[in-house]
Amino acid sequence: MSRPTTGPTGLAERAPHAVPAAAVGTGTGTGTLTVLDPRDDSFVGSVVEAGREEVADAVRRARSAQDAWMRTPAADRGVLLHAAATALRERADEMAALNGRETGKPFDDALGGVLAGADTLRQYAEIGPLHRGRSLVGARDAADFTIDQPRGVVAVITPWNDPVAVACGLIGAALVTGSTVVHKPSERCPHVGRMLGEVLSGVLPPEVLMTVSGGGAVGAALTEQPDVDAIAHVGSTATGRRIARVAALTGAHVVLENGGDDALIVDAGVDPVWAAEQAAVGAFANAGQICTSVERVFVHREIAPAFVEALAAEATRRNGRHELGPLVDRRLRDEVQRQVDEALASGASALVGGAVPSGPGAWYPATVLVDCGPRMTIMQEETFGPVAPVQVVADFDEALALASANRYGLAATVLTGSIANANRAVAELPVGAVKINAVFGGAPGGSAQPRGESGAGFGYGPELLDEMTLTKVVHYGSPVLTATGGAPTDEVAVDAGPGRTPHPQDPAEGGDPDAEGASDAEGDDQPRVHPGQPAEGG
Ligand code: NAD
Repeated sequence: MSRPTTGPTGLAERAPHAVPAAAVGTGTGTGTLTVLDPRDDSFVGSVVEAGREEVADAVRRARSAQDAWMRTPAADRGVLLHAAATALRERADEMAALNGRETGKPFDDALGGVLAGADTLRQYAEIGPLHRGRSLVGARDAADFTIDQPRGVVAVITPWNDPVAVACGLIGAALVTGSTVVHKPSERCPHVGRMLGEVLSGVLPPEVLMTVSGGGAVGAALTEQPDVDAIAHVGSTATGRRIARVAALTGAHVVLENGGDDALIVDAGVDPVWAAEQAAVGAFANAGQICTSVERVFVHREIAPAFVEALAAEATRRNGRHELGPLVDRRLRDEVQRQVDEALASGASALVGGAVPSGPGAWYPATVLVDCGPRMTIMQEETFGPVAPVQVVADFDEALALASANRYGLAATVLTGSIANANRAVAELPVGAVKINAVFGGAPGGSAQPRGESGAGFGYGPELLDEMTLTKVVHYGSPVLTATGGAPTDEVAVDAGPGRTPHPQDPAEGGDPDAEGASDAEGDDQPRVHPGQPAEGG
C-alpha cells in the first residue's frame, strides 16, 4: 500500500523543474523518492515511501484476502487475470510513456514491455487453471494423487529495466494459483509501479494485489514480514543474496532471478558481419540494460580483425543515429564508466565510445573495447550499460574455458557452424540458457534455473507455477469400520447403521443392484488398506 501524493496518472501535478541528480531515488525507506527523466534531468514526480507499519499492514491485508481468493475457482481467477490483461492493454500507451519518462526507455521498447506484460497475464490466466497434480499408482482399492496449493502471501520485488513485463509474470503466476501478492516496484520507477497496481487492482477483488512504494529498505522490510510465505525477486545478485539470508530466518520460499555476465563466443568460420550484428544487438539493446545482455565477447583469432571492424561500425552507426536511450540514471552511468576506465587503465582500448558525453541526462554511447583480459572487472562483473568488451582467443577450447570461468550463470550465446562445438557448449557452459546462433529468441514456455550467482528457481515460464505452489501428496485408503457385520463402506447394506455410509451404487441410492461389488461383500477378495497403513505400504 502506498500513500498517494499525486494525481490519477500517478505523476506529481507540478511544473517540471530540475532537481539535483543526487536526489534521485535514494530508497532509504525514510522519505520521498524523487524521479528525474534521464533524458533531460527534468522532474518526473515524487512518491512517498511506505513506512514499516504500512508494509506490515499491506501484508496483513493480503493475508486477509487470501482465503477467499484461494477458494475462488482457478478458472474464475483466470477470467479475472484476463480482465487485468485487458485493463493493462487499454492503458498501454500511457504506461509506456510514463515508463519512458522514469527510466528513459524508448517508447516502442516500453510499449513492447507493457504489451508483453499483458500477454504474460493472459498466458498465466490460461495455463494457471491447467496446473494440476498427478495421479499416482498405489494399491488397487486406494486412491493416491498430488494436489498443488497456493503458497499464501507472495512478496514480488522487481527492478526497473523491464518493469511491467517482469512484474506481470510474477504477479500473474502467484495470483492465478491462489496466492495474494504484495508488490514492491523499483524505486527508479515508482510511478509506473503504482500505476500498474492501480490498473490491475481495478479489476481484481480488493487487496488481492497490494503495492508498496519505496527503495531497498522498504523491500527489506517486506521480506522480513513473518507472514510472507514466498519472495520472488528479480534484480541484482547483491540484493538477491540479502533476500536469501533474510528468508533463511523467516522460512519463506525464495525465487531469485538475478544478474548475469553473459558470454558471446564467436567461432571461426562464421560470417564476421553477421556475428558483429548479433554482438551489437546483444550488447546495445535497451542500452545494455538487460539481464541477458551480451557482457563479454570471445572471438576466434581467425576472424577477429573483420569482426571487430564490423562491430565498431555497428556501434558508430547507432551512436550517429542516436538510437540508444539513456541509462536509467547517473548513478548507473558512473558505475559503467568506472568499469570502462578500469579496463582502459589495464590495457584495453576503446574503438568506439568509452566516455561520458557532456550535457544533461544520463546518456552513454555504444562502446566497443578491445584487448580486454579475463581479470578486468568489465569481464568479470555485470556491466549494465552499452559496452561490448572483446577478447581474442586462440581456439574454441579457450573461449569455452573463459566463458565458463565466471561467478554468474544466467545465459550465453555461441555463434558457430560446428555442430560439435555447439554440442559441447550446450553440455559444458554452466548457465541456465544456451543460445546457438541467435543472441535473443526462444520458444514460448522455455524456462530455466539460473546457475551460480544468477539466482535460484524458475523465475518465469510454466515452471513458475510450481514455485508459486506447494505440492501435497494424498492417499485415500478404504476404511475398516467397527460396526457389527464389518462390511467395508463401499459394500454396506442399505440400512446403514451408525458409522456406515450408503454407497451410491446401493439400490437405495439409485445404484445398480447387479453391479459388480454392489452388495456382495463376500465376493470381493481385494485387499483392504487399513487407514493407519502408510501410503507406501499399501
Ligand atoms: P536491485 O536488486 O537493486 O533492485 C531490484 C528490487 O529489489 C528493487 O525493487 C529494490 O528496491 C529491491 N531491493 C533492493 N534492496 C533490497 C533488499 N535489501 N531487500 C529487498 N528488496 C530490495 O536491482 P536493479 O538495479 O533494480 O535491477 C538491475 C538488476 O536486475 C541487474 O543485475 C539485472 O541483471 C537484474 N535483472 C535480472 C533479470 C533476470 O531475469 N535474471 C531480469 C531483469 C533484471
